[in-house]
Amino acid sequence: MDSEFTNGKKIVNRSVIARAPAKVNLHLEILRQRHDGYHEVETILQAVSLFDEVKVTLAEQYVGGKSDIEVSVRPKEVVPADETNLCWQAAAHFCREMGLSGRLLIELEKNIPVAAGLGGGSSDAAAVLMSCDRLFGTNLDSAELERLGTPLGADVPFFINGGTALGRGIGTLLMPLPRIRTGQFLIAKPDLKLLTNEVYGNLKMGLTVNVSKVNIAVIKSILARFPQTAWPGFNRLEEAVLPQQPLLQRLVLQLREEAPVAMLSGSGSAVVAVFGEGEDISELREDLVSAGLFVRVVGPHTTGVQVGDG
Ligand code: ATP
Repeated sequence: MDSEFTNGKKIVNRSVIARAPAKVNLHLEILRQRHDGYHEVETILQAVSLFDEVKVTLAEQYVGGKSDIEVSVRPKEVVPADETNLCWQAAAHFCREMGLSGRLLIELEKNIPVAAGLGGGSSDAAAVLMSCDRLFGTNLDSAELERLGTPLGADVPFFINGGTALGRGIGTLLMPLPRIRTGQFLIAKPDLKLLTNEVYGNLKMGLTVNVSKVNIAVIKSILARFPQTAWPGFNRLEEAVLPQQPLLQRLVLQLREEAPVAMLSGSGSAVVAVFGEGEDISELREDLVSAGLFVRVVGPHTTGVQVGDG
C-alpha cells in the first residue's frame, strides 16, 4: 500500500477545470435500425466554441471501496445534480473501470442548452473522464478514453478529440476529418426540449436500409472550402421532427434562405446555420433574439475537451 495512505485514505485536495464544448452535426444519415434497437448512423460532427465548465476536485483518495461523488449544478435545476447526471455517471464509471476510489466533487456550470442536440451531457461526461484521468494520474491515451466513454453515450468518445470527425456505427467509430477552422456557426434554439429517444422512435425506418453517402475523398475537398452553398450534408432526423414542429420547420427554412449550410442539429431542437467569416449577420441574430430564441454565434472548435489546473 502507498505509504501516504493512513487508515485506507489520503488527503489529495487537487482540482482541475475542464472546458466541455458543444457539437453540431453537419450531416446525419440513419443507415438502419439494429436488432438491439440502436440506429447505425453516418454523421459529420463538429465541435463548436460554446462551453460548459466542469470543475472536478479529488478531495481524498481511498484504498478500495466505493467512491463518494457529489455533483452541484449552476444554474440550479437545469439538470439534476443526482446520480442521473452524466457527470456523476462518468465519475462512477471511471472509478469502477480503473479500480480506483475517492471523494470527488464535481461543479458543473451549464451554458450548453439541455436536450438540444448539442451533446452537452456527453461533453460533460467526457470532461469528467479526462479530469479523473488527470487527477488519479492514470495517463490514459485518447483511444483508451474513447473506449471508456462509449458505454456512457454515443457522442461521448467524439468529445475526447473533438474538432471535425466522421462518426459511423452508432456514432462511436470515429475518423478525424480535415478540421474546419473558419465560419460563423449560428445556433438558434426555440424553448422546446426534444428527447433523442422519442425522435428516433418517430422516424419511420421500417426495413429501410440507407446507403453510406459520405465519400471521404470528396468530403475532404469540400471541407477545404467550407462553408459553401453546395454543401451535400443533411439531417435525416428532420423528417421525424419538422412535420410535427411548425416553429422549427419555419426556422430551418428561414435560415436555409440566408446561409449556405442550415439544418437541425442531431435530434434538435437546436438548429445550426453556418455563415462565411466576414458576413454581417447581426440583424438576423437580433431578429431571432427578439423572437425569444436562445441564440449564440460561435466558431469551430478544433479540439475536444480541454483540461487545465483548477
Ligand atoms: P444527445 O447526446 O442525446 O443528442 P442532447 O445534446 O440532445 O443529447 P443533453 O443536453 O446531453 O441533450 O441532455 C440529454 C438528457 O440527459 C437530458 O434529459 C438531461 O436531463 C440528461 N442529463 C444528465 N446529465 C446531464 C448533463 N450533465 N448535462 C445535460 N444533460 C444531462
